[in-house]
Amino acid sequence: MKYSFWFVVGSQFLYGPEVLDTVAKRAEEMAAKLSEVLPYPLVYKVTAKTNKEIADVVKEANYDDSCAGIITWCHTFSPSKMWINGLVNLQKPWCHLATQYNKEIPNDEIDMDFMNLNQAAHGDREHGFIGARLRMPRKVIAGYWQDAKVHKRLGDWMKAAVGVAVSKSMKVMRFGDNMREVAVTEGDKVEVQAKLGWQVNTWAVGDLVKVMNEVTEAEIDVLVETYKASYDIATDNMAAIRYQAKEEIAMKKMLDAEGCKAFSNTFQDLYGMEQLPGLASQHLMAQGYGYGGEGDWKVSAMTAIMKAMGENGNGASAFMEDYTYHLVEGQEYSLGAHMLEVCPSLAGDKPRIETHHLGIGMNEKDPARLVFEGKEGDAIVVSLIDMGGRLRLICQDIHCVKPIMPMPNLPVARVMWQAEPSLTEGVECWITAGGAHHTVLSYDVTAEQMRDWARMMDIEFVHITKDTTQEALEKELFLNDLAWKLKA
Ligand code: MN
Repeated sequence: MKYSFWFVVGSQFLYGPEVLDTVAKRAEEMAAKLSEVLPYPLVYKVTAKTNKEIADVVKEANYDDSCAGIITWCHTFSPSKMWINGLVNLQKPWCHLATQYNKEIPNDEIDMDFMNLNQAAHGDREHGFIGARLRMPRKVIAGYWQDAKVHKRLGDWMKAAVGVAVSKSMKVMRFGDNMREVAVTEGDKVEVQAKLGWQVNTWAVGDLVKVMNEVTEAEIDVLVETYKASYDIATDNMAAIRYQAKEEIAMKKMLDAEGCKAFSNTFQDLYGMEQLPGLASQHLMAQGYGYGGEGDWKVSAMTAIMKAMGENGNGASAFMEDYTYHLVEGQEYSLGAHMLEVCPSLAGDKPRIETHHLGIGMNEKDPARLVFEGKEGDAIVVSLIDMGGRLRLICQDIHCVKPIMPMPNLPVARVMWQAEPSLTEGVECWITAGGAHHTVLSYDVTAEQMRDWARMMDIEFVHITKDTTQEALEKELFLNDLAWKLKA
């Protein structure tokens, strides 16, 4: 889907045709210039002067799948009662850009005509009131429209809004169920579909094996060449690599046939398969598919959504699991990995394909997997949990480092990070909030984008930052619980 955003400018007839003509020309110019620097096109739609014009453009936006959101602005004063009928029906993300056409107050030129034409400071406040009065989820961005900082914030919001569109059409393919007895990977799929739009359904592992058996040697040859071009082959066991290729081809065929952008499987249900998909799942993630281990469909869909919100629609976001800590004072780190399935978009070096024994699950043969170190940089980890009656999205700021030791016997990809506000306080906050051991780790989606996404999806958002204390967090969670019960 090629997404775009619509620019809707508010005004009224009071100003006369000359002013309205100027407003429309400027709005068109602004949309065109902004489209050159924003990640998605901004299409100028209308300078709205009546209730009907606003209601009509909202209707059109709601029914156009390619419209990922609207950006509004009031160059002049636009009485907000005329916005009510439109806004109450708006089903697309909304950003209110509080800007103005001119950057400076022109000392010599300014007179009452200038004041009447350039009154966004006035119009945007009336516009803001109706958003607040209607309790509408919206993003407010203020600043000069040609400033790079405004472009960055608008662009980030656009990507979060695309995450909303991707969420609403998300389909998850589950091979098998959740890992037995695990609680945090469970959840209310009906609630999630109503709230987030996800269609989560199951397919038999036996059906996947059938499709695997139909994969040809020629198809496998082509994919193995792709592996060779992207990764270093650090094993003599080509049979294991070819088996992973067969798994990847079969899973991709099934995913694409159903329009699924995310999948999950579990090592407890590999009936008829020789290896848990490792390299296969990793290379599917590299192509933008979401994945969750142990049947974790929530983290799988979140991975796909956050990948789509990232750079060029497939950013450095990956399924991750907190494994073990380094608790030496002054050197406190989390080590994240998974038994096989870490997305190579996190890699700081060229991934190697290795084969090793895997003791967990029913692997008849040693699975091939990509092994690498995660890159250095600021990142977030995100966990979506079902609180019973509502969903909570927990986001923690982290800083990834080059792993401080080589760990030569660790046979999986690994990422090492420092958590905010510190490892132990961060763990206390994460555990207090109920965050899962599975997360999406992302280098290019920001906490602000996840907050925007959560607001647009109307779910609870909890952010653990450098300033978070356990005491304040406990109070926040308690108040959130009350508020969300009232809301439900
Ligand atoms: Mn796991």
